[in-house]
Amino acid sequence: MSKHEVIIVGGGPAGLTAGLYSSRAGLNSLLIERGVVGGQIVNATIVENYPGFPQGISGAELGALMHQQAVKYGVEVVTAEVTGISPKQPYSISTTEGDFEAKAVIITAGSEYRKLGILGEERFTGHGVSYCATCDGFFFRDKEVAVVGGGDTAITDALELTRHVKKVYIIHRRDQLRAGQILQQRAFGEPKLEFVWSTVVEEILGDELLSGLKLRNVETGKSSILKLAGIFVAIGLTPNSQSFQNIVDLDDTGYIVTDEIMTTSAPGIFAAGDIRKNSPRQIGVAVGDGITAAISAFKYVQENDK
Ligand code: NAP
Repeated sequence: MSKHEVIIVGGGPAGLTAGLYSSRAGLNSLLIERGVVGGQIVNATIVENYPGFPQGISGAELGALMHQQAVKYGVEVVTAEVTGISPKQPYSISTTEGDFEAKAVIITAGSEYRKLGILGEERFTGHGVSYCATCDGFFFRDKEVAVVGGGDTAITDALELTRHVKKVYIIHRRDQLRAGQILQQRAFGEPKLEFVWSTVVEEILGDELLSGLKLRNVETGKSSILKLAGIFVAIGLTPNSQSFQNIVDLDDTGYIVTDEIMTTSAPGIFAAGDIRKNSPRQIGVAVGDGITAAISAFKYVQENDK
């Protein structure tokens, strides 16, 4: 079994920063990522609120730079999915590419798109149902689409989509947006957007291709059919904490509970970034969490090596 001082699970900004700091502290560090290194930010066309880039930077470029910097200082990166972790130290982490052993573990596995859980959603995923406007907006050139949700992501996605499509319906279950004021102002001034308030999507319709949505107004109870070519689901995220649920304490919604130095309920296991309870889910916060977790892991390994 391959042995390491620190294993980091997840290769987004929190994980890459933790890897950078733990390698620079001289710890033998392995980072395990199941998909694309860089995490969710690789889907962001432009990141405008990460300090140091006043003109903005593409998420893919920022992720690639963080990756490059971590590897430069010695973090080893493997592509594998973590399937379990032993409850005792040294921690044995089982993955689709074999088992790895670590003195300390930093969990930075992030979160993934929340699903609507309705008929047609799974069937049409990739064929009209998307969770990433930046990735898939281009495929709906001059068509009519919907975005579901009322948060920052829904509004950002809808505004992004107006660059490609003829019209965007924003379907929201309430009559007020959750998104920030600046985004709201931009959205209300955009003629290609039409708001469908107090409405939920009950079913995604179509034969070979998606053809429309079955909607229900939650105030009147009335059902209707909206014909369109695509739906972008932007209703938030759920944490990727399933593999750790019997190892560390989670809150009611599945986020990992930590203290201010990223310690979890299990000694030697730390968590950082979006997977952490009460994270504001910002790149800058993930970076800061990653640094704190790496420093805590370093101290833990030092103290337990005596
Ligand atoms: P969010 O803030 O949790 O918003 C989720 C939205 O989806 C809410 O409007 C919610 O409705 C709705 N929703 C949740 N479950 C639903 C369901 N089952 N059916 C229908 N609607 C449902 O998530 P987010 O927009 O992805 O944002 C996540 C975090 O990233 C936030 O902290 C946000 O500020 C940040 N972010 C920032 C930017 C930026 O440009 N600054 C861009 C994107 C994201 P209710 O409003 O009724 O709860």
